[in-house]
Amino acid sequence: MTDLPLDFGDPADLEQLRRDLRDWLAEHPLPPRDADEPLPVHLHRWHRMLHSGGWVGLDVPREYGGRGLTPLHQVAVSDELGARGAPGVPRIGYLAHALLEFGSEEQRRRLLPRMLAGDDVWCQGFSEPGAGSDLAGMSTRADRGPEGHYTVSGQKLWTSYAQYSDLCLLLARTGADAPAHASISAFVLPLDRPGVTVRPLRAANGDDEFCELFLDGVRLAESERVGAEGGGWALAMTTVAYERNALDTGHLPRYGRLVERLRRHARAHRDGLPDGLLTDIGRCVVDYEVLVAHSRRRTAERLAGRAAGPESSIDKLLMTRAEQRLYETALKVFPEEVHGEGGEIFGDYLYSRAASVYGGTSQIQRNIIAKRLLRLPADGRG
Ligand SMILES: Cc1cc2nc3c(=O)[nH]c(=O)nc-3n(C[C@H](O)[C@H](O)[C@H](O)COP(=O)(O)OP(=O)(O)OC[C@H]3O[C@@H](n4cnc5c(N)ncnc54)[C@H](O)[C@@H]3O)c2cc1C
Repeated sequence: MTDLPLDFGDPADLEQLRRDLRDWLAEHPLPPRDADEPLPVHLHRWHRMLHSGGWVGLDVPREYGGRGLTPLHQVAVSDELGARGAPGVPRIGYLAHALLEFGSEEQRRRLLPRMLAGDDVWCQGFSEPGAGSDLAGMSTRADRGPEGHYTVSGQKLWTSYAQYSDLCLLLARTGADAPAHASISAFVLPLDRPGVTVRPLRAANGDDEFCELFLDGVRLAESERVGAEGGGWALAMTTVAYERNALDTGHLPRYGRLVERLRRHARAHRDGLPDGLLTDIGRCVVDYEVLVAHSRRRTAERLAGRAAGPESSIDKLLMTRAEQRLYETALKVFPEEVHGEGGEIFGDYLYSRAASVYGGTSQIQRNIIAKRLLRLPADGRG
């Protein structure tokens, strides 16, 4: 019996995969981060190491650079890495899914192997200053010229790590006559193309994750469009549906380790805990167990070949609640970890505040659940 959350009574080959990964990890520890090395550069080193060991893209078909195994193999790798305290697999699964589902055969063969290997680093150019929750209201335009190429102008915002990226999965409006959702197209934008300016933004905690992306008359070939013209909305929804679950993030074992630490603390200090803290710890345990049960269901659905859809909004809400409560509670229980050497919990606590915003805010997830899963009327009556 393994101590991992997503144990499916692993068939023999999965047990072997986990053992191989453990052996590989013992021989290939991630070298320490250099003092002046930005975190994304450090993690990119890890991406390349994992890829060279065969631990990236396990469920991607072989002809596109993967190992042609099942989603369960990919989940097992994320799980095992998280449980051993190693950094996770690179978060590219949702972009890979978009290309697998909407890319042409030529794009899949050219782009996916390089994405999996870390030869091209990707970012996601969806949000704009006036279009985050209301993504369909975007104003970046891609106008098609007489020779078939597009000229793209506009501004993207919150583009994570664009300054370290080579390519951007970009959404832009093509055509003016169609309804908002039907006039959006997706493109692969090389960030070194003339007319592209990437400007990093410094966040309050000192991080430079976010970027502004300025596009000024950028030329894109028709072959750089992904999917049909006007088909970008379906691609965007597929991308965010895969972005919104906990399966390939390695978050579950990370949460699991902290939940276990809280549990041990509660047992040892039961009588000395301030009012309410025991209840908070209990809620963390319940949140975590619910998330694990839910992730098992999603894994089973993926194995049955079911694509991610609006149900992933439930996953995102559960993950957000579990993560935010967990780090809030951990800070109350271990206040000494706010500063100094043990400051890791504080860093995770700060980042957990963003969970209710990235990948679509919690309010937007509730709207999706209300409209697309519960089929409630938009005006709230009936
Ligand atoms: C850490 C992080 C990383 C990100 N990375 C990327 C990235 O790489 N690429 C990218 O494209 N974007 C990225 N984003 C942007 C993210 O997708 C948007 O911030 C998010 O969709 C919200 O959009 P907004 O910031 O414009 O807020 P707004 O849409 O202006 O929302 C403001 C508030 O109004 C509420 N609201 C808006 N509309 C409704 C409604 N209809 N019903 C109820 N409430 C509503 C929202 O819930 C929110 O509380 C990232 C964000 C974060 C925090």
